[in-house]
Amino acid sequence: MQGSKELRDKLADACRLLYMEGLMDHGGLIGARIPETGNLLLIPREMRGTPGRHPGLMEGDDFVVVDPQGKRVEGSNNPPSETPIFTGVFKARPDVMAVFHLHLAYATLFSTVGKPLMAIGVTGAPFGATVPVDPDPTLIQRPEQGEALARTLAQNQAMILRGHGAVIVGASIEQAFCASVMLEDNALRLFRASQIGTPQALEGAELAEARSQIWHPKVIAKMWTFYNMKGAQLGVIKGDKA
Ligand SMILES: [Zn+2]
Repeated sequence: MQGSKELRDKLADACRLLYMEGLMDHGGLIGARIPETGNLLLIPREMRGTPGRHPGLMEGDDFVVVDPQGKRVEGSNNPPSETPIFTGVFKARPDVMAVFHLHLAYATLFSTVGKPLMAIGVTGAPFGATVPVDPDPTLIQRPEQGEALARTLAQNQAMILRGHGAVIVGASIEQAFCASVMLEDNALRLFRASQIGTPQALEGAELAEARSQIWHPKVIAKMWTFYNMKGAQLGVIKGDKA
């Protein structure tokens, strides 16, 4: 079976923790590149003979393996219909090892009214001054759509699919997870700030400094540890990893 047990278990834990945090439900997709083969390990379209899936119940064996063009090469479940998100981004970004596509409520909200998703605090800093938005509001089911959104993403940590969701990338599953939490946190803060006044965005040197402070391996390790401990405490994941 392609993909190490460690990689598969970590991807399954990410599903469970994203579910715990309300960032994934029947929708939302995550995947990782398999270093040994270059193929992609993706959350399946359906699991265990049902017509759906549950991220909070995901196990390492449930994932499906596709080649870089999105064709299934392993696993009994089907790849997700939005597989072109993964093939497009993984092809365009050799540095990326994990891609998450989440229907984040607040991060997506700003794109529905044409307002920029600005960095207003440290949790927004990894994404630059504003998060790029791809204008295509439909599901990403054709290869050319995946290539287009990868161009919009460019070298950024995340991008928004207008009115649909976010695409978040990382050099590891831990990075993609922490970026997902931070992206939605900054968006929620921006939304709330907009209710009481004019949000003050981080700019220039302060934005760069905040990014170097927060987008740091120690912060990512600390966050990943916290969410794993929380997951173990709540019985969302097995308790031997925290
Ligand atoms: Zn979607």
